[in-house]
Amino acid sequence: MAPRPFYEEAFGGWFGRVAARYQISVATLWEMSASETMPALGTAGWIPFPPISQTALHRHAVLARLDDHMLSYIQTPPEWITDRRCLAYCFRCLVLNDVDVSAPRWKREWLQPAAEFCRVHRTLLETVPASVFRRSDHFEAALRAISRYRTTSKLSAYRRLR
Ligand SMILES: [Zn+2]
Repeated sequence: MAPRPFYEEAFGGWFGRVAARYQISVATLWEMSASETMPALGTAGWIPFPPISQTALHRHAVLARLDDHMLSYIQTPPEWITDRRCLAYCFRCLVLNDVDVSAPRWKREWLQPAAEFCRVHRTLLETVPASVFRRSDHFEAALRAISRYRTTSKLSAYRRLR
């Protein structure tokens, strides 16, 4: 059974979670479930997933047993689809999903090109290189890459202190 999307989640994040559930890549999941070509992805891969067609949306909704409205609600606004070098997000919000702690999810609001602050924690957002998503097959792989990136950045900050 496919995981359900959260209201504040980005479509790409949800789609990446579904791919992780079946241990396949986002591209393979799209090929298996939609009857049209996947929209072209930018530098940040599938996380800012371009808005999908009504037909594809309906098909994914049927397969995931959701109504079309839910998937339509979490689409990425077209004006947010820009090529980026890095992506902003709040690590605490990512891993502490208050609706379901066992399900980290990528908030749609982080994809706003001007996103800077976490409204929940009132802190500056952290960033990860956009390539994290471009190089990850699915959401779990991206989470692992984000952890590795955080560890490496902390280590190098520590080395600079010594
Ligand atoms: Zn936060």
